[in-house]
Amino acid sequence: MTLEQIKENITQLHNELPAGVKLVAVSKFHPIEALQAAYDAGQRIFGESRAQEIGPKHTAMPQDVEWHFIGHLQSNKVRQIVPYVSLIHSIDSERLLRCVDDEARRAGRTTDILLQLHVAREETKYGFTLDECRALADNGIIDSLANVRIRGVMGMATNTDDETEIHREFHAIRNTFDQLKASHFDTCPYFDTVSMGMSHDYRIAIDEGTTMVRIGTTIFGLREY
Ligand SMILES: *Cc1c(COP(=O)(O)O)cnc(C)c1O
Repeated sequence: MTLEQIKENITQLHNELPAGVKLVAVSKFHPIEALQAAYDAGQRIFGESRAQEIGPKHTAMPQDVEWHFIGHLQSNKVRQIVPYVSLIHSIDSERLLRCVDDEARRAGRTTDILLQLHVAREETKYGFTLDECRALADNGIIDSLANVRIRGVMGMATNTDDETEIHREFHAIRNTFDQLKASHFDTCPYFDTVSMGMSHDYRIAIDEGTTMVRIGTTIFGLREY
């Protein structure tokens, strides 16, 4: 993509996404020039999936950017990202949840997080089941962690062309959010985020009630790993 194309892609997405659906521009593996072009077109939320990329990009970009961590996160990388991130989408175990709480306390912060749900058919995807989320709430673990604030849920659908399956999985994610909202988070206005939808399936996610889409390839083109 040229820088002009990136700007156009951002503008088109901003026009297309319904009010109430936020765009996370997934900029992992892309250089600062590409991020700056997106910024110049009005984009302010960027998603990264490698811990070591966030600090340098945070330093290089304007200070009003919100940095989201979206990839699988190892406990030993949490300290590296906590100072920079405004939302971690990918909390996929109780151990990681506790680790973020510890590191946020150590840094004197509260860190916003999403619980990643496992709904896809692939074994390789990470995350909690609905029952596991309920257990975290019911056995008091969530309330005991003072330095994390749970903003909602995140999920990824199976990588498939079967749109019925993608609808079904996104529906399950939205449904889990609604159930948690009604049971444990009914008095928590900050519990407001359903992060689902990527380049190939974000329109289905919109149909199923997403509030936050994570889009990389459609904006920046293919990544060079
Ligand atoms: C890379 C990534 C995306 C963006 O994927 P695209 O297909 O490039 O839009 C979204 N979510 C997560 C968790 C990712 O790792």
